[in-house]
Amino acid sequence: MFENETVKGIDIKYISTNLKAPPVTFREALLKGLAPDGGLYLPSVVPLLTSDEMESLIGMEYPELASKIVGKYTSDEISSTELESICRAVYRFSLPVEHVDGSSYILRLDQGPTASFKDFAALLMGRLMQHFLSRDNRNIIILTATSGDTGSAVANAFAGLGNIRVIILYPAGEVSDLQRKQMTTFDDNISVIEIGGKFDDCQQLVKKAFMDRDLSGFNLSSANSINIGRLLPQSVYYFKAWAELTKGRADKIIFSVPCGNFGNVAGGLIAARMGLPVSRFVIATNENNEVPEFLSSGTYEPVVPSKNCISSAMNVGHPSNLARIVSMYGGIMDEHGRIIKVPDLNLMRKDLFAISVSDELTRASMKQFYLDYGKLLEPHGAVAWHGLSGYLRTLKKTENKGIISVCLETAHPAKFRDEIRSLLNVDPVMPDSLKTIEFKKEEYISLENNYPLLKDFIIKNF
Ligand SMILES: *Cc1c(COP(=O)(O)O)cnc(C)c1O
Repeated sequence: MFENETVKGIDIKYISTNLKAPPVTFREALLKGLAPDGGLYLPSVVPLLTSDEMESLIGMEYPELASKIVGKYTSDEISSTELESICRAVYRFSLPVEHVDGSSYILRLDQGPTASFKDFAALLMGRLMQHFLSRDNRNIIILTATSGDTGSAVANAFAGLGNIRVIILYPAGEVSDLQRKQMTTFDDNISVIEIGGKFDDCQQLVKKAFMDRDLSGFNLSSANSINIGRLLPQSVYYFKAWAELTKGRADKIIFSVPCGNFGNVAGGLIAARMGLPVSRFVIATNENNEVPEFLSSGTYEPVVPSKNCISSAMNVGHPSNLARIVSMYGGIMDEHGRIIKVPDLNLMRKDLFAISVSDELTRASMKQFYLDYGKLLEPHGAVAWHGLSGYLRTLKKTENKGIISVCLETAHPAKFRDEIRSLLNVDPVMPDSLKTIEFKKEEYISLENNYPLLKDFIIKNF
């Protein structure tokens, strides 16, 4: 799996990480979400961009760049004009790359309609799904678990799309009022359920529903980062940051990514396999440190139950995309986190610098960043910034000199107003998209963490 190809027009198939399901096309992988063997789809080959193609990205606008990159994976299932017009319709917000210090930058992925980086993926995935569904005259139900930001991005991206209904599960008490309102204030095709459990429980419920034969007639699909349609759009902004900062010099670049389910960094790894010259990914987690532990010890143990940290969207004790990353390094990990075949851990350690950051250090990082640079980071970005600083300190002065490093800021500080207020005594400026939501009417139901109750709800209501 995962060989590089330079040949144009190759026919990419999608293969399950469990290797026990038949290969499918992009359209099928997108509409299915999870493979029938419980694995996650990955492209059979990763197209390598030629140096001319890389050069052509410089100065290219985001929508065009997105359609070029994603278009490599859609074979001939959607025309390039159609794909580009979808990208132009959804990517109507900015992507600031802010200089911080020396050769360090912040990539602000927080300017979308729900002020989270998840907008990049959800918006494109929603339109692509609708494109294929309306062409085939089919309907699906998107069932998705969220620790906050996926739910709002998906609700916003899918609201009003024909042929699609959406059910969102979120853990009670683990999402902020604002995050909940970002999901519960849409009507028509969006249903929201509060589950008496944790995020991992919500994710388990979703997986059970997918494996349940009684529900096969409902055409369930996922908008979580288990869906390949979420992952590929997340490769694009790595290219964009590189094109903007290096202007095509073949410099290596470091990305620091705040990780929960590891979908964001999996997008980055795909970009690197396509030829983006990344010297290292810093993968920074909160106190849910199963991946940093795995990389250092070689033994994988989920954190059960997951820990509640202030970077709430990363409170994940068993990241679903780890199976994909293990597969990219020649291993096999099943959906329970069992390692069937050991990946090349040494190579993983070479590419990935993993670090777990406590809440205390996250707060300290937010504070220091504000004092030093007069700018705000919210907790997720602060985890990544702390990880990046830690990594840069491990480099020798000569290695470090002039190397461009980019820290991904994945949510808008205004989403974490209370934390920032109590820590720094300042009020983040609210983006317009968040201002209007406070007064909208909410609608949602509550269920216990119990699979038969969810199943019943689906059967009765859909
Ligand atoms: C979802 C999320 C993350 C984690 O991204 P993964 O792709 O799950 O690793 C980080 N920060 C924010 C703000 C998020 O919403």
